[in-house]
Amino acid sequence: MPDNALNLAGFNEDTAENILENRRRFLKLFPNESGAWSLAGCWQVHGSDVRLIHNRAEAKPAEDARGDTIYCDAIVSNASGVLAGVKTADCVPILIGDPVHSAFAAIHAGWRGTLAEVATKALQRMTAAYNTNPRDVRLAVGPAAGSCCYEVGTDVIDPFKSKFPHQQLFRETRAGHACINLLEANRAQLISAGVAPERINIAPLCTMCRTDLFFSYRREKNTQGKVGRLMSVIGRKTSG
Ligand SMILES: [Zn+2]
Repeated sequence: MPDNALNLAGFNEDTAENILENRRRFLKLFPNESGAWSLAGCWQVHGSDVRLIHNRAEAKPAEDARGDTIYCDAIVSNASGVLAGVKTADCVPILIGDPVHSAFAAIHAGWRGTLAEVATKALQRMTAAYNTNPRDVRLAVGPAAGSCCYEVGTDVIDPFKSKFPHQQLFRETRAGHACINLLEANRAQLISAGVAPERINIAPLCTMCRTDLFFSYRREKNTQGKVGRLMSVIGRKTSG
């Protein structure tokens, strides 16, 4: 992990003091006149469980949100003052906003989560809890490992080919290996769930190419021993 970088998670790889100070600086980017943000996160496990945050009390004050004990990979809420956050370093961070019902979601989709349809499940949870119509939502997909760099083996290729028979997700590299386009897999999933393609915005930057800007687990873990985490957040300002 580069020193002097804005690491926002990973308490086993960086000091709590450093992470919490970085979070304070990060959250200053999102002014919220009527009060501090409460950060809703979870202990991410590459699954597809969705956690619903009903109110600010269920999230944690941003300065204190460290030892998440709820295991999930997506946060859904409509509570004001809550920032739903996901931590990534190569996996795909997906933010969903429903401007009609003021509901939102933050999703962590690595290859396992993508196969488990975590983004679709979060969207369905928004519909069940807040009446979200997929046609209304806007999506922001943050920096992740791109198809330029993200090489996987047959353990990943085979299940993806059967899950996405109509998508061209792979570029062959060497025997039994290919680079995967995880962003496209998630995009395709969300479009078939009813999201309008023109409302999906994907950051065009690869975390593995741009370690000058982002943390990359795959690039940095071997060379540096530890890796920082990016955080993507979405929320509603406190009303009033
Ligand atoms: Zn790349």
